[in-house]
Amino acid sequence: MKIGILALQGSFAEHAEILQTIGADFSFVRCREDVQGLTHLIIPGGESSTLTKLLKDSGMWEEILKQVQDDTLQILGTCAGAILLEKLGMDLYCDRNGYGAQQESFLADLQSEKFPNLKGVFIRAPKFSRVGKKGINLATLQKEPVMVEQGNFLALAFHPELVGETRIHEYFLKK
Ligand code: GLN
Repeated sequence: MKIGILALQGSFAEHAEILQTIGADFSFVRCREDVQGLTHLIIPGGESSTLTKLLKDSGMWEEILKQVQDDTLQILGTCAGAILLEKLGMDLYCDRNGYGAQQESFLADLQSEKFPNLKGVFIRAPKFSRVGKKGINLATLQKEPVMVEQGNFLALAFHPELVGETRIHEYFLKK
């Protein structure tokens, strides 16, 4: 198992803290070579347009896409990361900033059978306005899906890493 956290922009340090808390070894991913051989990749929140540009300019996008197509890479995407999962082929429609602007950020109690008492922080979060047939909804906010798993993809509209939530990362690493 080889775990990487994309560390170009956004909340990668907070994901690193969660992995340290659960005792998982990882590396920060900053160039194409860093992507090679990964089994698990975490794409943090940030700005999806900036992340997309940085990934494409560095050749990392091509490498990630290749591994997605080869079915060799599990990817967890939070917030902007979820928007990137859609661009990488996940059957999910993300309505960017669907949960409001920066000043409307909020902490919410989520409904989830798998993860009881789950909380999440929403910061300019995307709304998952359409989930593909193969998508499994693992958590909701006011009946709307906010955590969807589809094959090797796990998309979260919210930030679990900002409230010290470790269960989702543990679940992801078991995939
Ligand atoms: N709204 C941002 C975007 O569209 C995502 C915000 C976040 O990751 N917290 O990329």
